Amino acid sequence: MQVASVIVDVAAMQTDRSFDYLIPDKWSGMIAPGMRVIVPFGPRSIQGFVTEVKSRSEVEKLKPLIEPMDLLPVLNAELLSLADWLTETTLCFKISAYQAMLPAAMKAKYEKVFRLIDGKTPSTKEIAELFQNRTEILWEEVAKLGLLTVFRQEVKANRIELVYKVKSKGNKKMIRMIGCALPANQSKEYIEQLPANALKQKLVLEYLVKQTSKFVSAKEAMEASGASSATLKSLIEKGLIVETKQEMYRDPYENREFQKTEPLPLTELQEKAIIPILQSIEQEQHETFLLYGVTGSGKTEIYLQSIQKVLKIGKEAIVLVPEISLTPQMVHRFKGRFGDDVAVLHSGLSIGEKYDEWRKIQRKEVKVVVGARSAIFAPFENLGIIIIDEEHETSYKQEENPRYHARETAIKRAQHYNCPVILGSATPALESFARAQKGVYKLLTLSKRMNDQALPDVEIVDMREELRDGNRSMFSRALFEKLEDRLKKGEQTVLFLNRRGHSSFIMCRDCGYVSGCPHCDISLTYHRYSHQMKCHYCGYEEPVPHACPECNSEHIRYFGTGTQKVEEELGKLLPYAKVVRMDVDTTSKKGAHEKLLRQFEEGKADILLGTQMIAKGLDFPNITLVGVLTADTMLHIPDFRSSEKTFQLLTQVSGRAGRHELQGEVVIQTYTPEHYSIQLAGEQDYDQFYQQEMMIRKMGHYPPFYFLALVTVSHYDVITASSITEKITNYLRSHLSKSAIILGPVASPIPRINDRYRYQCLIKYKREPKLNEGLKTILEHYTKQHKDKHLQVAIDVNPFIMM
Ligand code: ADP
Ligand code: ZN
Ligand code: ZN
Repeated sequence: MQVASVIVDVAAMQTDRSFDYLIPDKWSGMIAPGMRVIVPFGPRSIQGFVTEVKSRSEVEKLKPLIEPMDLLPVLNAELLSLADWLTETTLCFKISAYQAMLPAAMKAKYEKVFRLIDGKTPSTKEIAELFQNRTEILWEEVAKLGLLTVFRQEVKANRIELVYKVKSKGNKKMIRMIGCALPANQSKEYIEQLPANALKQKLVLEYLVKQTSKFVSAKEAMEASGASSATLKSLIEKGLIVETKQEMYRDPYENREFQKTEPLPLTELQEKAIIPILQSIEQEQHETFLLYGVTGSGKTEIYLQSIQKVLKIGKEAIVLVPEISLTPQMVHRFKGRFGDDVAVLHSGLSIGEKYDEWRKIQRKEVKVVVGARSAIFAPFENLGIIIIDEEHETSYKQEENPRYHARETAIKRAQHYNCPVILGSATPALESFARAQKGVYKLLTLSKRMNDQALPDVEIVDMREELRDGNRSMFSRALFEKLEDRLKKGEQTVLFLNRRGHSSFIMCRDCGYVSGCPHCDISLTYHRYSHQMKCHYCGYEEPVPHACPECNSEHIRYFGTGTQKVEEELGKLLPYAKVVRMDVDTTSKKGAHEKLLRQFEEGKADILLGTQMIAKGLDFPNITLVGVLTADTMLHIPDFRSSEKTFQLLTQVSGRAGRHELQGEVVIQTYTPEHYSIQLAGEQDYDQFYQQEMMIRKMGHYPPFYFLALVTVSHYDVITASSITEKITNYLRSHLSKSAIILGPVASPIPRINDRYRYQCLIKYKREPKLNEGLKTILEHYTKQHKDKHLQVAIDVNPFIMM
């Protein structure tokens, strides 16, 4: 008897455990952990993941599983145990962890087909005959013929693959293929007999006979022979050629030439930094390196050469970059060095495209993956390095279940494979730098820019003074003058507008006063509904001031300016300037992002105006001016990381100017020029910022001195939400040690989303061995035993978004 333990595809507390199913004899020996199966569940049949195959079960009457969905596991043993770890550390359901690791195509409705792998011949004549005149066979057909076991051998031997085709329309990229209908000798005979005026037909047939594979793309055949589709049609009608449709790997970078690049001779500094990395690769000893180097200091070249070493010893590499900087430029550098060995995964790909890239990885057709956060789950089995570029980026934390952080996940996987992790940044996360200081990570420093260019000159403009001097425009005089100057010289400008935190705080335009919480040193959030100012850490609140409490000015108001408004203003003030605007509105269409950047790169515009998405990765020689319109917006969002984020962002944006021969200038407009994160970003002084910010974190009991966990309760009924949060808070107070700091219950900063009222409790702690168990108890109690269906309890361990 064989029994499969299965995690079923129902994300709920009740089903978050494995269920046993009998493996029917016909599947015996074919089912393995990491495969998906279809199982009966109540009245339905649903998908599930096999976690174990065993010879007995505690359960008496076992139901048989219906059928396997895979012939080979889609999750290997390492990924299965990584899922256990994710479940444990992020408190998610096991099924959510599995699903996070697989491309969406495998979740969606599917159709299974067997496909002959290009250039391969099946080992038996029987199978070869099945593939006569077609490249795909439906799973159902093979099952009916009783050939699944035989096919499994072929799949294992990499001659045939099993493909899940997304059923929804428009997902598949099909191309028309044609081939000779007759065996080659008969086709040749026929060619001889064709009349002279049928030259085109002759040419097509000759072209097809010459091919090594039966089918070629119709387009190619027509191009090569000069035939029209009418010619093809008549040949098909005569029964001389057959046609079929074939799904293609969608390559989002096809038709793009990637110029091959060679490794550069490393500078002395780079050499010094790469040696320990290469050692870790050679000696197969896991280590986490923090590669701390200003933009343009040669980090990417170190990544490339480390990967080269990894490939040389036959291993694989994962490179994570923030979604936003998955620009063609970045992709170019990896494709240029490693060519077709590289798969690229980012959110701009369709479901089908992502699935294609995933399959390339699973079938070991590529060795390097460059991708955003979820690429950390690339199904490699012989990892030699994991690189996380811009490691401080908050997008590496997933904000839905499983709420994992790519950095921790990378380290976990690297420990398994005994390989290094490189975390690269010019402005490392405070947590990372602190770990490097303590020796948990190994610090590698690149202190100089490659071109020996000085960092750009930064001017900080006090917008309060502009106002005092009667300038009510959103451009300071300094910025405006420089803008005009660049237009005259034909040089380019980047204007950066930070929209995050829009309108959520109130600031005095005369003195820069922002109302803060008297207990938390965090700015108060303006609540539109209640017209109140609130602190979401401790619950303190006060009415919206009509005049500035500091200077009595009445110019106190919500803050925020949209890109559209800036564009209009530019149109009025500098009507001859050509502006490219990049924000969520202008880049929502596929490929728009790239197109706009190309326009700018080709010099079709003078000014690139945008939000966060232009802060990174841009490397254009003609940019000599960067203007930051409102440096403060991020500073006052109610988040203890707001200074850090401001510093990082300003440093990043400033780095866009003067990357090549021309010296760059930066103008930062602000209402709080004295704030240390703005001052120090102006000086590009990370070390000083680190010192200062660490002091503040220490005093406020924030990371990296304390860990955080956030419990958010939501319900349509405000009383229920608040009273349950109170109960949870009380439970935690009694359950945890005295040194844990428990803040709450308090309304969430966004107190209502989709008509659900939200309350929260924040836990700050250093070491709480009982915390995870306590949090699990809370989840169990309120989701399993509690009968109220409208109640939701969400727990985020190490939250990055406190809203
Ligand atoms: P970072 O990743 O730190 O921003 P890059 O690796 O992009 O830095 O390097 C900045 C520039 O310097 C790039 O144009 C790169 O090609 C060049 N570069 C890097 N290393 C070397 C080297 N050893 N010799 C010459 N040029 C280099
Ligand atoms: Zn004021
Ligand atoms: Zn407070």
